[in-house]
Amino acid sequence: MSDSIVQVVSDIRFQSHHGPDGHPERPERLVAVGEAIDSFGHRIEVVAPRAAESEEILRAHDRRLLEAIASTSGRELGKIDADTYYSASSFEVARLAAGSCIDLATRVLCGGISSGLAAVRPPGHHAEADRAMGFCLFNNVAIATRSLQAEGGAPRILIFDWDVHHGNGTQHIFETDPDVLYISTHQFPFYPGTGNFDEAGLDRGLGSTINIPMPVGCGDEEFIGVLQRIVVPAARTFSPDVILISCGFDAHQDDPLASMEITQYGYRAMSTIMLELAKSLCGGRIVFILEGGYSLAGVREGTEAVLETLTAAAPMQAPTAIELVPGAALTGIVDRVGQVHAHRIRDFAAAL
Ligand SMILES: [Zn+2]
Repeated sequence: MSDSIVQVVSDIRFQSHHGPDGHPERPERLVAVGEAIDSFGHRIEVVAPRAAESEEILRAHDRRLLEAIASTSGRELGKIDADTYYSASSFEVARLAAGSCIDLATRVLCGGISSGLAAVRPPGHHAEADRAMGFCLFNNVAIATRSLQAEGGAPRILIFDWDVHHGNGTQHIFETDPDVLYISTHQFPFYPGTGNFDEAGLDRGLGSTINIPMPVGCGDEEFIGVLQRIVVPAARTFSPDVILISCGFDAHQDDPLASMEITQYGYRAMSTIMLELAKSLCGGRIVFILEGGYSLAGVREGTEAVLETLTAAAPMQAPTAIELVPGAALTGIVDRVGQVHAHRIRDFAAAL
């Protein structure tokens, strides 16, 4: 039955974008992700990527940025900013990443498959409409979202960004759009510096950006609690037609760049909560788009957790409600988000 198909976009060409030796956003990340994908064998359908057309990229980006990235084609290693680089094939690889996300999201929204994972590089969520930054050239989730809006019958789209960094680019691209709910959990203060509680959207989009900045050291309990108390009720109130996950694994306990403590159990629990939410709200339509994650063990474990959940290879019970204990980090986070958003969200912070 087509409804149970889980598609994964994976391709060796995503490893041909590379930076200077020692850069954390390195091709080996996808070797580790690929090992996890391979272990799911016939339970998933691996599909090849296709390059995004210029018109598709321009739905989220300025022509000047597209032309600047295109102009790097065939050039040797170079820098765009302090930590964002290109190599000879980066433009082509970035087009493949964006095209993969468009296709997967379109197939999930418009029929054919139930869910998917785009195992792509370079990541996307820091890329602004007019600027590549933070290892990101084009904003894959934003391009996919704009394509669904253009071709998919004006759907309501939830983007949940659980990468450990704030997705400044995604927030800014959609901050005036009431049909896209952008929710981000991220270490704060931390790169890129945006994503404080009071950044809640602009104009008609006021309330459709929910930032959940979290102090260093948060782990499974805090993240699961934030999903239960904030993300789930906000999603239910918004009622999306499809859920896109900006799926970084750099909040993993082994990540060398960040200081959070999510375990493989935590990623399974978070994936389970989001899949159950998708089933209850939008026919199970959910797409995971790889963002960051710089521990090879971390990205392997995270990918396994997502695919175990999507394929029901190792179904787990949704975790029981995390209590809001006075003085605990989770309680402080929920209180602060509530000060900004609770009046707009039914059953905010209710125990599940
Ligand atoms: Zn990140």
